[in-house]
Amino acid sequence: MKNVLRLSLGSLLLAGTVTVVVPENASAWSTIGGSLGLTQRDYRIYDNFTDSTCHDNTTAHSNWPEYTEVELSAWKAGAEWGSRSLGDGSGDGSQNNVGDGGANFNFIWAGNAGNTGGYNGNIISPLSGSSGGVLAYCETPISDGWRIRFYESWTWDDGPDSVPSSRMDFQGVACHELGHALGLGHSTAGGNPTMSAYASGNGVSDRSIASDDIAGIQQGVYGAMSSSMPEVTDLQGSLNAGGTLIVVGNNFSSTGNEVWFNNNGTSANGPDGDPVKVTNLASTNGGTQISLTIPTTGIEGGSIHVKKSGSGNSTLSEGHPFDLNGGQPGLNTITLFAPTLVFAGGSAILDVSRATPGAKVYLLYSMANTGTTIFGHQFDLGSNWKVLTNLTADSAGTGSYSLNVPSGASGMTVYMECGANTAGVITDSNIQQITVM
Ligand SMILES: [Zn+2]
Repeated sequence: MKNVLRLSLGSLLLAGTVTVVVPENASAWSTIGGSLGLTQRDYRIYDNFTDSTCHDNTTAHSNWPEYTEVELSAWKAGAEWGSRSLGDGSGDGSQNNVGDGGANFNFIWAGNAGNTGGYNGNIISPLSGSSGGVLAYCETPISDGWRIRFYESWTWDDGPDSVPSSRMDFQGVACHELGHALGLGHSTAGGNPTMSAYASGNGVSDRSIASDDIAGIQQGVYGAMSSSMPEVTDLQGSLNAGGTLIVVGNNFSSTGNEVWFNNNGTSANGPDGDPVKVTNLASTNGGTQISLTIPTTGIEGGSIHVKKSGSGNSTLSEGHPFDLNGGQPGLNTITLFAPTLVFAGGSAILDVSRATPGAKVYLLYSMANTGTTIFGHQFDLGSNWKVLTNLTADSAGTGSYSLNVPSGASGMTVYMECGANTAGVITDSNIQQITVM
């Protein structure tokens, strides 16, 4: 018996014309029973979408190497459910950070498939025709995998920024359907969480999971992220096939680690969605480094994961961007945490993590989030940016700054982003929107 869960169109007429503030209820998420084990974490897309607006985002971003267009949207839709950040929204003003799940769960982006696959092939694909107001649905045998279909009667848009109201946002709807795939049902919480049965507007806001969605994946399915979950913070050495790669992070086992690469296969019925695993790897430096030879065949770029020894959902790391045979961009992406609401005349703590240990990290701000190039690197801040301060990351790559909010800033919206220059490589952080009361 298949479980089929759908996302239906909400009232588009309300979007943009009426603002209704609905208080969020506690624990309004639901589950469908079951969860995805470590052998079913892969997800792929069969890109047979006919809408040209699914294929017009050709801007590459170093946090998401080797994919653009609807593939990039699909990747980000799954990465949003991940335990830790997998970089920012690529110039997307609607999403400051991707990877907000905070649970013992990480999808594995596995790229393209060659057809729609079976009920449990873990493939997203289009479906001709329509079904009333239904946008897409997920078939969920759950523990054995799933299949997601998007009705082609809608005009799908690959984003990444705003999407015209005449189209539906692929990424937001995919994020909802992937929520079903990992075991969540619909939520009745106010505030339009991603797992609401109805799309919010044209779905753009569903790209970012809400507190109720996060409570659902943590409390309902996989548990809050274990402090022992392995984390990948940097890749050093060679990124070339056959080269020696050094994976830097923490919580690696002393022996028996695996590094998982994207499989470059496209067959739906073979094992091609499964990652290519380099196994039996020891770590050094107190469980913070793994050295290995990059496979010469069968893999492609995207992201890599570390699987520590043992079993269970907390033994697999989040994905880390990996640009096979590429340069160093996108590595060591910094994470910036800041309160979304501060008070004029008050103070706020800004926390930096995942920086290179010892690096000087600049805290930049702007009144706009329209994107700009600084020293040849694409930032999400607007062009009229300023330096707030700088700090030196500690040996764990973290730092914090206590911001005194100017008393005259009441009513302003400010955007903040970190930047660092390590041996000529510019890295940035997610962008944070801060509203001053
Ligand atoms: Zn649904």
